Amino acid sequence: MMSICENIEHIVSTLPAGVRLVAVSKTKPAEYIEEAYAGGQRIFGENRPQEMAAKHQVLPDDIQWHLIGQLQEKNVKYIAPFVAMIHSVDSLRLLQKIDKEAAKYGRVIDCLLEFHIAEEATKSGMTEAEAEELLRSDAYRALEHVRLVGVMGIATFTDDRGQIRREFRHLHDIFLRLKEKYFAGNESFRELSMGMSGDYDIAIEEGSTLVRVGTAIFGERVYKQTN
Ligand SMILES: *Cc1c(COP(=O)(O)O)cnc(C)c1O
Repeated sequence: MMSICENIEHIVSTLPAGVRLVAVSKTKPAEYIEEAYAGGQRIFGENRPQEMAAKHQVLPDDIQWHLIGQLQEKNVKYIAPFVAMIHSVDSLRLLQKIDKEAAKYGRVIDCLLEFHIAEEATKSGMTEAEAEELLRSDAYRALEHVRLVGVMGIATFTDDRGQIRREFRHLHDIFLRLKEKYFAGNESFRELSMGMSGDYDIAIEEGSTLVRVGTAIFGERVYKQTN
């Protein structure tokens, strides 16, 4: 079996310039993150705010924590003091809540708009029309403690690589349209968060700038029974 560091080294060696690796450490103990950190990895992705906050407490300060999972408004407070990027913004209300919590710490939190690009009904995210409504609103324009830096999406879980490619391409098209209409000349709106262990190679070919890889680095996740 390859080590965590070897896995990261391998993945990073396949990334073109400008593409960054988010090492998805959800459910994994802090020791795994320390191992990756010792190998030079600095960006880690978690999907539960409380779990992220607990790990942040015991791990080095220069780790950049990315929240990649669905975020409930009541949980924003746990991560607002330190989170580097939130990938999963899917409503104006959530963005307003992040803004309010960030203001308490004098911070500006980088956020991505999450889009529903998969076939499955269960995957979260907005439609393009919903995003445009958000971006046109006065309420959005009034926010001073969040910065939208790009888009995020999760492709359908399927063996059909052609379908995955079409979904990533669709997200890239959305990104380009929003960039032109709402972020023209704004260099910070530049991130396309797409690609996981099974499909990050396709995502890179379709223009990803942030790949979110867990299993291929840390191994399969074991979820505890919570009944
Ligand atoms: C868990 C997760 C990942 C990582 O998935 P792997 O298949 O383990 O690489 C990426 N993105 C999101 C949103 C996730 O929840």
